[in-house]
Parts: sequence; C-alpha cells; structure tokens
Amino acid sequence: MTQPEANIGLVGHVDHGKTTLVQALSGEWTDQHSEEMKRGISIRLGYADTTFRRCPGDPPDCYTVEETCPDGTESDVVRKISFVDAPGHETLMATMLSGASLMDGAVLVISADEPCPQPQTEEHLMALDIIGVENVVVAQNKVDLVSRERAEESYDEIRGFVEGTVAEDAPIVPLSAQQEVNIDRLIDAVEDEIPTPERDPDADARMHVARSFDVNRPGTPIDSIKGGVVGGSLARGVLNVGDEVEILPGSEVGEGYEAIETTVRSIMAGDEQVDEATPGGLLGVGTGLDPSLTKGDALGGQVAGKPGTLPPVHDGFTVGVDLLDRVVGGEGDEVDPISTGEPLMLSVGTATTVGSVTSAREGECEVKLKRPVCAEEGDKMAINRRVGSRWRLIGVGTVR
Ligand code: GDP
Ligand code: MG
Repeated sequence: MTQPEANIGLVGHVDHGKTTLVQALSGEWTDQHSEEMKRGISIRLGYADTTFRRCPGDPPDCYTVEETCPDGTESDVVRKISFVDAPGHETLMATMLSGASLMDGAVLVISADEPCPQPQTEEHLMALDIIGVENVVVAQNKVDLVSRERAEESYDEIRGFVEGTVAEDAPIVPLSAQQEVNIDRLIDAVEDEIPTPERDPDADARMHVARSFDVNRPGTPIDSIKGGVVGGSLARGVLNVGDEVEILPGSEVGEGYEAIETTVRSIMAGDEQVDEATPGGLLGVGTGLDPSLTKGDALGGQVAGKPGTLPPVHDGFTVGVDLLDRVVGGEGDEVDPISTGEPLMLSVGTATTVGSVTSAREGECEVKLKRPVCAEEGDKMAINRRVGSRWRLIGVGTVR
C-alpha cells in the first residue's frame, strides 16, 4: 500500500459542510466518535484518506475519486491524500489549532447560503495565516441551495473577505458536497494549489502527537494487553517498527515531567499495518508503553522521535508577540496589549497549554507554562486570550 503523501485540512464554520465534503472525496464519514455523533459536530480531529485519480481527458473534468471511469476503463492514481477534518464549533478552536500544525494545506469550506464571514470562517482563516498554512483552496459549498444571484453575491463576499490573507489568491470553487457537483474542479484546484511538500528523507524522524489511546477493552487479561498507542503525523524523517523513540515532555512525575522512552512495536497507516512510515497521513504507533500512560489523549501535543534529537522542553519561555488589530471571531473589539499576570492559551505544534504572563514588554513577553511543551526556537504559536467565556485568537507568537 502507499501511504498518503500530504495532509490537507478541512476548515471552516460549523455546518458549512466540511464532513460532507470529506465524505464526497473519500467515501468515509469522519464523525466516528459516539459523543460526536450525539452532538453532531467534529469534536476530535477526524481524518480520512483518499486517492485522487484521473480518467482520460483534460483537467478539471478528468479528475475523480472513483476507480472506474465513465467509459469503463480504470482510472490512474494521481496522489494519495489524508484529510484532517477540523471541528468548526467555536469552543473547539484549540483542537483546530493543534490540527493546523499537521496540515500541508487547507480547504476552507464556506457555505454560499450564509453571509461571509461567519465567526469560525474568520477565525479558522486567521489561524491558518498564523500557523503558516499558506496553500489554501476555498470550497464555496451548498450552491445547490441558492439562486445564481446569491451564488455570485457570496462569491464577491468571499473575495472581499480573503483579501490581505494567505488565501488572497486562493481559487474559489463553487460546489455542492452533498450533490457531489464540481468535486472534479476542487481536486483540480487542490492539485494546483497544494503540492506535496519536499521531504528530507535523511532527517531524524519527528512525529507530532495529536492523540493517544488505550486500545484494550476493559477486562482484557494481562497477557493479552496491548501497549499504549500514539496517533499523529510525521513532520519529517522515517519511522520504522523496532525504532527506539523518545516522547517529550513525557509523563507527569511528581512536580515535573519525565521523558518517556519506548520502542515502536507496530505502525498503522490509514487502516493498514506498515513496517515503515513516512510523512503524510495520520499514523497510529503501537508502543511498549503501559496503556495507562496513553489513555484518553494523555500524550496529545507531545513530540516523538529518535532519543536525543528532539527540541528542548520548556516550562516557560520568552515569546515574541505580534498582536492582531482586532479580536477574531468576536464583536471585533480591538486587541489590548498583553499585561503581566494575565493567563494566555498557547497552541504550539499540536500542544495547547495555558501560561501565565510573568513579564510583558513591547513586542515580547515571558510566560510560565502550566504544562511544558517541546519546541524549537523560532517555532510559531497561536496566542489566545480569555474574552468573556472563551479563548479568542489575539495574535501570533514566536519562541525566542
Ligand atoms: P460541518 O459541520 O462543516 O462538518 O458540516 P456537515 O458536513 O456536517 O454538514 C452540515 C449540514 O449541511 C448537513 O446536514 C449536510 O447534509 C448539509 N450539507 C453539506 N453540504 C451540503 C451541500 O452541498 N448542499 C446541501 N444542500 N446541504 C449540504
Ligand atoms: Mg464536521
């Protein structure tokens, strides 16, 4: 089997059709978790792999996700992609932000039947901007629900909205995810706009852990218990079954954190077992760890790689701060300067951590973190401030 070679995020406001679009592109429904089913929103990052294919003819009409072409011939594989379906609900920005660090590009889904921008349309685009996800395609969805006139008006709203952002020159593809109309045009735009990043095959493996699990059913006999599983994506390098890995910051021991060391026992890429994994797609890595360490996403936000090669662990750092002019997704209030003593929520890689500002200066602040993070100098982070009852995006930070 071939592993997906790139991760593409599906972002945008709740109910605009992200999950439906992933389904149209992959035949899989990413809302798998029962709690999520109940609430009808993507709580955890859902993901689905798909293969873009082409049939005889010219782009965009030649593109498909079907194995058989309309003329009965077999379609050719273009590229295997993994979709990360981010939650659009406003309380789930932290999940969206941690997912964004895994994205090589994104499809911003905007429904034509609502005025643009809706709050999380704006917030998600700003997050892409901050995290540096530069290759964006806009899917103007639900065109089956609106008149031609409204579709054109919506298109103009979108053009105005993306001006001055990473999506400024992004193609806008009108489509219906539900009716599967113009899916070929979307694939064409993604092929043009979101190339597979160049990967250095000799780099040390580095995996961003988004989730972690205990895969054993309650009552499993001791001798059949499987080791803890960590889920995430390789940012670089190659991971093999049998590799020794270090996971940082590791597990909480007393007052501090202790690095975790373990061995890779198995690797799932998509739904297949592989011996070797490369960047692109989400992986489930079986380890020799006590599953109580990985239960309930306990290791989400950590970094895994060859021992001794990972970035340092910080329980506080100096952050270079670049504040936005206005609070995103809210009432449009101006962003006040960061003040000493205030709590901030920082999204660094897949990690989300709350920090308290111990000293705020012009363009910079010192933050003491509640939970440490593994990060390199120069890494970007999203800075969120508590506004009313929730965290709102107020700027971009850089680890100094
Ligand atoms: P998400 O919250 O962005 O993941 O949105 P969903 O994919 O769950 O879609 C929300 C609702 O919009 C569902 O009832 C879908 O069936 C519906 N929907 C999604 N895409 C389309 C579309 O292209 N046309 C129409 N008419 N409905 C759509
Ligand atoms: Mg969804």
